[in-house]
Amino acid sequence: MTGQSDQSQWRTDTDSLLRKLVSAIPDMLSTYWLSADGESHRFVFISEHVQSVLGIAPEVLRENAEAMFSAVHPEDLPGLKLSVAESAITLSRWRRQARLRMKAGHYDWFEVNSMPERQADGSTVWYGQFHNIQRYKDLERTLRERETESAFQADFQKLIANLSTKFINLGIGAIDQCITELLCAIGVFFEVDRAYLYEFSPDYHVMDNTYEWCSGGVPALIDSQRNVPTDGLEWWQCKINEMVSGNRVIFVEEIEQIPAGPERTMLEQQGVSSMFCVPVRVRGLVTSFFGVSSLRKRAWREDQADLLIIVSGLLSGALERHRLESELLNQSIRDPLTALHNRRYLMPRLNEMLSRASRHGEHFTLAMFDLDRFKHINDSNGHLGGDFCLRTFADILLEQTRETDVVARFGGEEFVVAFSGVSQADVRDTVSRIIRSVRNHNFVFESCVVPLTVSAGIAAIGELNDIPASPDPLIRLADDRLYRAKQAGRDCLVDASGVSRI
Ligand code: GH3
Ligand code: MG
Ligand code: MG
Repeated sequence: MTGQSDQSQWRTDTDSLLRKLVSAIPDMLSTYWLSADGESHRFVFISEHVQSVLGIAPEVLRENAEAMFSAVHPEDLPGLKLSVAESAITLSRWRRQARLRMKAGHYDWFEVNSMPERQADGSTVWYGQFHNIQRYKDLERTLRERETESAFQADFQKLIANLSTKFINLGIGAIDQCITELLCAIGVFFEVDRAYLYEFSPDYHVMDNTYEWCSGGVPALIDSQRNVPTDGLEWWQCKINEMVSGNRVIFVEEIEQIPAGPERTMLEQQGVSSMFCVPVRVRGLVTSFFGVSSLRKRAWREDQADLLIIVSGLLSGALERHRLESELLNQSIRDPLTALHNRRYLMPRLNEMLSRASRHGEHFTLAMFDLDRFKHINDSNGHLGGDFCLRTFADILLEQTRETDVVARFGGEEFVVAFSGVSQADVRDTVSRIIRSVRNHNFVFESCVVPLTVSAGIAAIGELNDIPASPDPLIRLADDRLYRAKQAGRDCLVDASGVSRI
């Protein structure tokens, strides 16, 4: 019987029951009152633990709700006020998220969720709660970060896959375009201001900025960074050594980290604030480095170095393949004995020169050389002695011609020099100089002096009645004249004006 009466008493003491319930709920339950004119407001009721949560005494809030609103984060306050005003007008649920300053001083996210009820005097009362949602916000942020991170990783993988495909499909001679595209793609992806590739001289004493990408409005440096000597750049030389010997990545987070000296001055002048440099290897040897720099202070990803190493691997592969391809190409268009271009290279070049001559009415002249009595040279000095003479003659040809002249070994001991845009008189002078140089040169093979002379036949496009479709008629004319030079006793040239002894 006693138990039963206790129970009924327990049941009837609603006030104490509610108080207990409220104190057991971690959320702050509240009854918020706003006057009809919106001028005054207070919490008719608020959970006691508002004291321990926000550090505001409940009795203060019972007097005036202002203390609660002044705990709202300034950025969230206007929205919160607007939402309560709207709820008061429409009498729809007041639901809003805002940050509240906690007792400890930091802000936590809360969600207010209350139902409004209009009172007879026009005032409004909301019954509901303040629910701490910080945990969810944290979770949301972590998820968002993870999502951003995996999106970044996926984008990076996509970028690398795209660039690799490009590099794999790279045609001979397209390396420049590919590296430029890679630098641009990486520059944009990592949001840097410059991305560049420097090539080292074999002794690492000179570095040459061969490729550069700059973001919009950032001045290019490539022209001032060609063949930069590293002598005197002590700090940088030490870093080069780390890249070359230790395969280390150079990371300068703030330019102030670099000891005062010419490197820092130079980077400061370039406006660089931070940079990453990664060695690039070709056949196991560091031949260049790839870098990115930022003109403003910025945060770098922790794995930035790893990502840039992947890019550097891509560059290594492309450069290595390019080198191999250009070596193969070179081998196929160069004569291994003299290192001069061969006939395979010469013929298309002659076609090009011919069409330029016909388009622009330019001079185009061919000189054909044949070493005199070369069979005899071989017989007297052996084949190796003959080879030596061929190599030396090739050097003389290169010495006596300009870079724009095309010099090739036509076959055996026959050579061709093609002149574009050079007057007849100048060609004649050059050929004469060559004949004289050979005659006067002291060819010494295995302590024996080898007397050597050369004959030449010269033919110019202007001498033909019509511009021919192929260089063959010009070659034939030069060859005929060379034959005439031989008949005239050798060591001379024959052109349109006949035999010339020099
Ligand atoms: P000519 O003055 O009329 O030109 O007389 P020549 O002896 O030079 O006659 P020809 O042009 O017929 O002989 C060319 C010789 O050049 C024949 C060949 O053995 C030699 N020769 C061709 N290629 C090479 C080479 O790569 N090395 C050497 N050592 N000799 C070569
Ligand atoms: Mg010959
Ligand atoms: Mg000969």
